[in-house]
Amino acid sequence: MRRILQISRHILLILISIFLTIFLLIFFISCNKVADKDLNGNKIRVVVSILPQAEFVEKVGGDRVIVTVMIPPGASPHTYEPTPEQLKEVSRARMYAKVGSGIEFELEWLDKIAGLNKEMYVVNCADGVRFITPEGSDGGSAIYYENNKSIESEGDYARIDPHIWLSLKNAKIMSENIYKGLAKIDPVNREYYRENLDSFTAELDELDKEIMQMFESKKNKVIIVFHPNWTYFASDYGIRQIPIEEEGKEPTARHMKYVIDEALKYNIKKIFASPEFSAKSAEVLAREIGGSVILLSPLEKNYIENMRKTAMAFAEAME
Ligand SMILES: [Zn+2]
Repeated sequence: MRRILQISRHILLILISIFLTIFLLIFFISCNKVADKDLNGNKIRVVVSILPQAEFVEKVGGDRVIVTVMIPPGASPHTYEPTPEQLKEVSRARMYAKVGSGIEFELEWLDKIAGLNKEMYVVNCADGVRFITPEGSDGGSAIYYENNKSIESEGDYARIDPHIWLSLKNAKIMSENIYKGLAKIDPVNREYYRENLDSFTAELDELDKEIMQMFESKKNKVIIVFHPNWTYFASDYGIRQIPIEEEGKEPTARHMKYVIDEALKYNIKKIFASPEFSAKSAEVLAREIGGSVILLSPLEKNYIENMRKTAMAFAEAME
């Protein structure tokens, strides 16, 4: 009898330890599942100022990021003001990627936006970009800033052309800065971001070569634009950009005459404007030279396609 009791006691102990093991196993597995779900569900919220940056962040961040754009399609970064909903969106973000070249929206709002979310990591996309002053676009000598260390005050920003993203070379630098930001706040996925950056960079390099060939045989590399968006693009390919606008304002009669004379001299028939601006003077000028206005957006999200389309339109307008 005593022996039987001893055996059953033994069996009971074995059973208990088996149950305990199973229980612990289930416990650990479900814990891991929760952690996994956390990782997949908690994508990194990134806020950017303009649409082309959203493309850069998505190219580098892949399916790890959710991007919010502050300046919506059709609005101008020179005048836009954020909505209360957008400010709420900012308070949930882990990272803000600013253009960093002194666009009015950022000069006006970035401090307030950063103040709403102290945890948010701010990446300066312009870090390492060579700034150009607008003087250079009018045939005068351009002043280049090797990096933005010398640019500190708003007055300094007023002297440089802010449209840095419209150069493929700058797009590479901006994407690399975005990569550094993502790698810093999400180091576990650093390799993933690196691979994405490398393949986007390769795409940009390929397009850069393609565009270079488009302009190779052109005799007169001159374009007339309403608003001088394309300063950095023009600089990359040795193009002279003549803006109709004068310091953001409608042109004087004297300046209009100068632009018309240049158009006649280089047999230019196409005037470039962007859908974000009403460009009456571009229409007037086009009529004057018997040409037409072509709209090209500097703020399209589909960056690669838009840059190719723009380059083709410029090349077609040149002799
Ligand atoms: Zn602009």
